[in-house]
This record gives sequence, C-alpha cells and structure tokens, in this order.
Amino acid sequence: MKLGVHISGAGRIYETLERAQELGCNTMQIFSRSPQRWRERSLSHEDIEEFKARKSETGINPVFIHIAYLINLASPDRRLYRASINAYVEDILEAQKLKAEYIVTHMGSHKNTSENAGLKRLTEALNIILEKTYKADVGILLENTAGSGSWLGYKFEHQQRVIAGLTNKKRIGLCLDTAHAYLAGYDIATAQGLEAMLEEIDKTAGLGLVKLIHLNDAKGKLGSRHDRHEHIGKGRIGLTGMKRIINHPKLRDAAFILETPKDSEKSDAMNLNTVRKLRKE
Ligand SMILES: [Zn+2]
Repeated sequence: MKLGVHISGAGRIYETLERAQELGCNTMQIFSRSPQRWRERSLSHEDIEEFKARKSETGINPVFIHIAYLINLASPDRRLYRASINAYVEDILEAQKLKAEYIVTHMGSHKNTSENAGLKRLTEALNIILEKTYKADVGILLENTAGSGSWLGYKFEHQQRVIAGLTNKKRIGLCLDTAHAYLAGYDIATAQGLEAMLEEIDKTAGLGLVKLIHLNDAKGKLGSRHDRHEHIGKGRIGLTGMKRIINHPKLRDAAFILETPKDSEKSDAMNLNTVRKLRKE
C-alpha cells in the first residue's frame, strides 16, 4: 500500500523526506511554496540535488506537490489569473527538477461569475500551462472540492468538462478527497453511497484517472460544504466507512495521503496506524 501524509515544509526541502520516513511513509505530499504567499522559496541547486538523492535513498515515491491556495486558475481577475498561471508553471518546472511525480491542485473559484465561465477559464489556463511545460512529465491531478463558496470541482462532471477541453490529456489525472466528497454531498460513509460515487466518477472523468486519494474523515455534516477535516475514523465517514474506502478493489492501487488534523505531535502516527490496521493485506 502506498501510504503517506502531508509533511510540513519547515526547514530545508529535503528534510521533508526524513520526516516522512520516520513516520514509516512510502509516499508523501508537500506544499510547493508557503501556501499563502506568492514566492517564499527559491530552491538552490544543492537543495534540489540533496532532495533527489534522499528521495531515491528513502524510496519515497510518488511525491505529490500541492499547489498553494492563493493560485486561482478560474479567477475572473485578469491580474490574479495571469499570476496564477505563471506561478503554476514555475511550480511544475520546480517539481520536474525535484523529480516529483505529481502536482495536486484544487480547481479554483469562479468568484460569483458562473460555473461555466470559471470552468472555461480553468480549461484555458491548463492548456497554456501544459503547453508551457510540454517537456515536463510531471502529472497534474485535479482535486474535488467540498463546494463552498464559488469553488469548482464539487461534482465530477466539472473535472470531465475541463479534461474534455484539454488539447493534451496525457499528464492529467484526478485526486479524490474523501472529506470533500462527503461534505459536497456524496454519502461515502455507506457502501451504497460509495458505489454510487465511484460509478459517477467512472461515467464522467473516469476512475482510471484517480492516482491519489486524500484520505480524510469529515467533521461537518453530509452536504454541508463546510471544508473541515477530521482524524481517520473520528468523523462522519467513520471507521467502517474508511475501512471500505481503503480496501475497495477500485481504489486499492491509488496512493493514499492523509491531510488529517495535526493537533498533537503524535497525530500523524496515530492516523497512519489506524489506516494500516484497517487495511486488509
Ligand atoms: Zn485534499
């Protein structure tokens, strides 16, 4: 099983690999830059070389790089839209240097324009990005959202429509966030609800595109659209629901990354342990 957590980016970038290894992870996710700033980090040649060396030493693979929250590829504000595209291109080129396998990104917010207009802007942005980084082989994973505010991607038809508009689909995949799905109204706490969602993904964007599962329990009510994550088994999806997701034959081969709360130093170890116990080898 490929299992890891979102690792804090404090310190040198290569130290994230050690932190992941200490937790017994064989995959991990990090932020591309400080999540709330445009440019926090420009990696030195030494940092990049050290990261690559430690990545192959530790065998941590794939590495997922989560795009900063301020990047909005669906923004109606031209300045922010352009800045987002440029930052995204920088992040892909940096991921390529680090030999990270995937970039993970939310679908952006249309900011009270319309879903159609937002999806169109997002599709155009991705086409520009794919073209500007055509030499890179970093995969781009579109993540589903809880659907609060004007966020796109709370139903899989959105991902389907964006992918359909891409001139080059080779590098595109999906990230399935279980908490976001539940909060967006998919009742994946039940066997029936989980099957219905998987069927919907398969009929729209395609289940084969799911490379990553953000395995998070949900704090809020079903369909509340309020994006709050909870420890594995302690939220509304619960232990039984989580067990079903982790062992589902259609999901087993994806990588699982936890983005669960880190309210104590032991939180990550505790959640990882819960998942390992739930997984039937
Ligand atoms: Zn997520």
